[in-house]
Amino acid sequence: MAEAKIPKATAKRLPIYYRYLNILFNAGKQRVSSTELSEAVQVDSATIRRDFSYFGALGKRGYGYDVENLLNFFKKTLNQDHLTNVALIGVGNLGHALLNYNFRQTNSVRISAAFDINEAIANTIQSGVPVYPMAEMKEQLQIQQVDVAILTVPIEDAQIVADELVDAGVKGIMNFTPIRVSVPATVRVQNVDLANELQTLIYFLDHYGSETTNN
Ligand code: ATP
Repeated sequence: MAEAKIPKATAKRLPIYYRYLNILFNAGKQRVSSTELSEAVQVDSATIRRDFSYFGALGKRGYGYDVENLLNFFKKTLNQDHLTNVALIGVGNLGHALLNYNFRQTNSVRISAAFDINEAIANTIQSGVPVYPMAEMKEQLQIQQVDVAILTVPIEDAQIVADELVDAGVKGIMNFTPIRVSVPATVRVQNVDLANELQTLIYFLDHYGSETTNN
């Protein structure tokens, strides 16, 4: 496969190129020169030409690069043409913040449905995302083919909700609660304990701060 031959450094620049080409495309531009690209993405034009040569001869002398062709190529390579819908359970303070954030930096992931036990928030739309009652979770996750869920419920409900997610067929849980939930080996859990991360940072600053931050 051609993709296997792309050097790591080139691969790292792909998202940068991709983001800028998207802007050009949305602005209706059909072509772009490597000099123009170079100025916009702060990569020298020789590197851009070399990078692009790995993707096949997409550029033409005196014409530049076809924006749409490049964009389609990058979309495939970056898997950006494949949108992953994610669910969020527990629309409290943190849940709200994540709904509002909604991973806008990437075009490939978005929170498409949220769930909450609180009847005052269920059946409303929050930051553009529909919030369903918990009773509809299993059905909605299956209809929407959601495999990944973000868990932002209170600690005491984390395990119960994790069990419900497993029962609904979810394959991955991003756990923002400070407890470790138990799940079958077929389900993957990624723990994000913000308080813990912050305390770790403060601990390192207190103990090694001046030695490590100066270099
Ligand atoms: P956060 O911890 O995100 O700052 P908060 O302090 O606003 O949130 P929590 O009590 O932690 O509120 O609850 C987070 C959200 O989880 C609330 O909207 C609550 O209604 C919801 N929630 C609580 N229990 C469950 C449950 N079993 N299933 C689904 N949602 C739940």
